[in-house]
Order: sequence, then structure tokens, then C-alpha cells
Amino acid sequence: MSHSGRPDLRSGLQGASSRGLFVILEQLYQELPDTTCARRGACCTLLPLVFTVELAAWLHRLPNAPYKERAAQARRLVEHFLVNAAQRRPCPWARPDSCAIYPDRFMGCRTYGLWTPQAYEKRAAQAAQGQQAVAQAWQGLGVELPPEVLAPAPPYCRLVKPVSGPAPDDAAIEALEERAIELSRDLPDGLDRLHDFGGDISFAVASLALGQPQALSLKVAVTKAMLSGDEAEAHELLAKAGTAAKRWAQSY
Ligand code: SF4
Repeated sequence: MSHSGRPDLRSGLQGASSRGLFVILEQLYQELPDTTCARRGACCTLLPLVFTVELAAWLHRLPNAPYKERAAQARRLVEHFLVNAAQRRPCPWARPDSCAIYPDRFMGCRTYGLWTPQAYEKRAAQAAQGQQAVAQAWQGLGVELPPEVLAPAPPYCRLVKPVSGPAPDDAAIEALEERAIELSRDLPDGLDRLHDFGGDISFAVASLALGQPQALSLKVAVTKAMLSGDEAEAHELLAKAGTAAKRWAQSY
């Protein structure tokens, strides 16, 4: 891996594309039915976790966007990563009544509402356990996360319906997810580091734009500043990170 990581990342993404992995990912998406819903927006109140192959596909598509849009996406994702321990923020792509990347949305977005409520309940319980572990890690740094950040996700939405045909059952959705995991394992060696972000695309972009240790230490500094009410400090740190994010997007 080069010092910046960029050349290996770009050639790794090219390799994944040449192997057809992103086309196969798209085919997996197409196995899910189009859905319709009452647009309550519950599914978009949090940034969804993504499979590593989805993170790679997003990074591969990014240079196709005009510079301004690339820069705006990178800045929003870096800011999301830096502030989401101090404030609950919706998905950075959520718009008042739509998704800014709807045709390219992730598997978690496409399967939300198709799970049975029982299967979703299990996932929500696992997520809550993970959140407790995160809260304890922050306590170790002397930071008590605010209740709004630790609050459970909104109740599962039951208003999502397939446009036609039956919804896939839980086993069929799990099988699709398993295939996305296998595709992620097939990513070329140059993309190894993409597995380190736990499916958090905002962590990935912050690490690529700022460097991983810097992204983590800046997150601690921003969180402490926000929770102690030092808005000027938080604003200054976020402005510097935003500039770095835009610079990364420009050279990406
Ligand atoms: S990517 Fe789009 S559909 Fe998915 S959570 Fe974000 S706004 Fe919602």
C-alpha cells in the first residue's frame, strides 16, 4: 500500500470492476422487488451499514460524479462521521421526501420493510447491543454519549410493499446478503483495508480523506467540543475537516 493508499485503492477498484463484481452486485439488487411506501422516512433516519463490496462500488462510481457533487458528498460523509457520537444525524443522502442516490441505494435500504417484523426485531436487538459497546468505549475516553444518540432506531415501518409479486421471505433475503458477503470476500487484495470500516461508509471516507488515526482523534475532539458546548472549537475543527474532504474529493 502506498503512503496515501490512493494508487492501490484505484487499481484495486479497477480490478474488482474487471472481475465483474459490481455487475454481480447490481444483479443481486435486481433480485429484490421494487417497493412502494408511505414515505414516512423512518428507514433513512440513520446511515445504513453497507457490505464491503457496496463500499467498493460506491468508491468506484464516485469519480463519475461532477467535482462539486463529489466534494459535497465527501464533506457530508466526513461531517457525519465526526459528529454522529454527539448528535443523531439522518443518512447524509436523505432529502425531505426522497433519497439523493435512489438508483444506487444500498442493500440495507432495499430490504428495509421486506423483513418480517420478527427478523427485524432480532437485528434491532443486535444493533442495540453494539451501541452499548460503543457507549462503553466512549465512557473509557471520559465521554458520556447523549440519550438522543443512544435512543433506539424508530419502530420498524410496516408500510413498505412490493410493487408487484410477493415479498421475498427472510431466508431469501439472508441468502442474498450471504452472496453480498461472498462478493466482498472476492475483492482484490488492494482493497483489504475496506473491510476495516465495519460497513460504515462515513468512517471509510473520513479515513481515506484524513487518514484513519487522524479521523479517529478528530472525532474524539469534535465530540468533546460539541458535548461541552464549545461550538466555536467544534465549528473550526469541522471546517478544517470539510476542507480536507473537498481536497480529497478533488484529487480522487
Ligand atoms: S442511502 Fe437513500 S434510501 Fe438509503 S438510508 Fe440513505 S437516504 Fe435512505
